[in-house]
Amino acid sequence: MPPADLNALHPDIWPRGAARRDGVLTLCGVDVRDLAARFGTPVLVADEEDVRGRAREYLEAFGPDGGVFYAAKAFCSRAVLRWVHSEGLGIDVCSGGELEVALSADVDPAMITLHGNNKLPAEIERAVAAGIGHIVVDSFEEIARVAFFAAQAGTRARVLVRVTTGVEAHTHEFMATAHDDQKFGFSLASGAADEAVRRVLALPSLLFAGLHSHIGSQIFDTAGFEVAAHRVIELAARIHGEHGVHVEELDLGGGFGIAYTPDDDPPDVKSLTSSLRAIVAFQCSAVGLPIPKLTIEPGRAIVGPSTVTLYEVGTIKDVDGLRTYVSVDGGMSDNIRTALYDASYTVVLASRTSDAAPMLSRVVGRHCESGDIVVRDCYLPADLAPGDLLAVAATGAYCRSMASNYNHLTKPGVVAVRDGAASEIVRRETLDDLLRLDVG
Ligand SMILES: *Cc1c(COP(=O)(O)O)cnc(C)c1O
Repeated sequence: MPPADLNALHPDIWPRGAARRDGVLTLCGVDVRDLAARFGTPVLVADEEDVRGRAREYLEAFGPDGGVFYAAKAFCSRAVLRWVHSEGLGIDVCSGGELEVALSADVDPAMITLHGNNKLPAEIERAVAAGIGHIVVDSFEEIARVAFFAAQAGTRARVLVRVTTGVEAHTHEFMATAHDDQKFGFSLASGAADEAVRRVLALPSLLFAGLHSHIGSQIFDTAGFEVAAHRVIELAARIHGEHGVHVEELDLGGGFGIAYTPDDDPPDVKSLTSSLRAIVAFQCSAVGLPIPKLTIEPGRAIVGPSTVTLYEVGTIKDVDGLRTYVSVDGGMSDNIRTALYDASYTVVLASRTSDAAPMLSRVVGRHCESGDIVVRDCYLPADLAPGDLLAVAATGAYCRSMASNYNHLTKPGVVAVRDGAASEIVRRETLDDLLRLDVG
């Protein structure tokens, strides 16, 4: 069914600063035609105040005794890390590269957490030397490595033990991370998690900071978090029984879903966070434990809704009786999520409005793959023409950060908009950038 109004901007899907002015999409007062002319297309346009607002809402909802860490892998640039850090969020990083961005953005090292199932020794060494707040240990080899580098540096590294709770999160298989048959964490069911805590407590260069559980991504209901919290708190009770140690911190990970289409109905921040806190408080009182400091790690929910991708329409191919293929000047190199996760997106004609009839369309990229789809099913006005600008909503998370140079396309730039002004925060790649790497 086509939407009632092809030109409408659903408030849950578009950035808070998005509006139509004289029919043209504007972002924080900046006309998308000007953005395209100045920065080229495709381009990702991030509403700074949208990001900051969401960061504040998580922090406020979670309260002063909780901690909110932005998962930088969703989108990692110095500007965005500065925005969220200045609002009071810590930063989660998953690699040495993300760690360097955070350090070079002057994020307080004490508010950085390092994740990863295969952290390289050099990354661990750097994290220890930088004095970052937490390293989340994911394997027995890594416990030994972190202990080694901390001992060598003459410090104690604060570690969280990542627990795989066996929860089957209701999301795409590749976005679920807590069932036993996958690569992350220490299994609760096998006893590996208990053993990991034992080893951490036995190593003098490690400080056991608490437990970590991340069940997956793009999750809409709190049931999975409830089961995960229940199981982790049972582990906390066993730890107390065996070692007399209280688990002081419980990190419940990220994964809070956002709306990509009008069918998505994510929980609001306040009810989500208060139910998480209630679940943990209830479980702790059931086993007679004090309530640990709670932390969460939203990535997508902070940056996802803030950003739109602008594309220019190129060729248009009508497949009789089926649909119209609308090719744009980017594709799977700037948004792999449709191909990888079968993700859905919302797209509108941005450079003008149209009263033409809705045309069942598929927005595709310009790569040599028939799976190179940006928006699988959508309606666009039948008078769409080459040169029109399309805007795809909610591309702030896992689009630019997963971008590739497939077909030697250059990665798009990222532009921040605020109060009627635009500035590039990640420069558009040039062909010279690519050719410089080709040293053969
Ligand atoms: C990916 C990830 C997150 C963030 O997930 P979102 O779905 O972007 O909120 C948080 N914590 C860990 C450990 C992750 O791997």
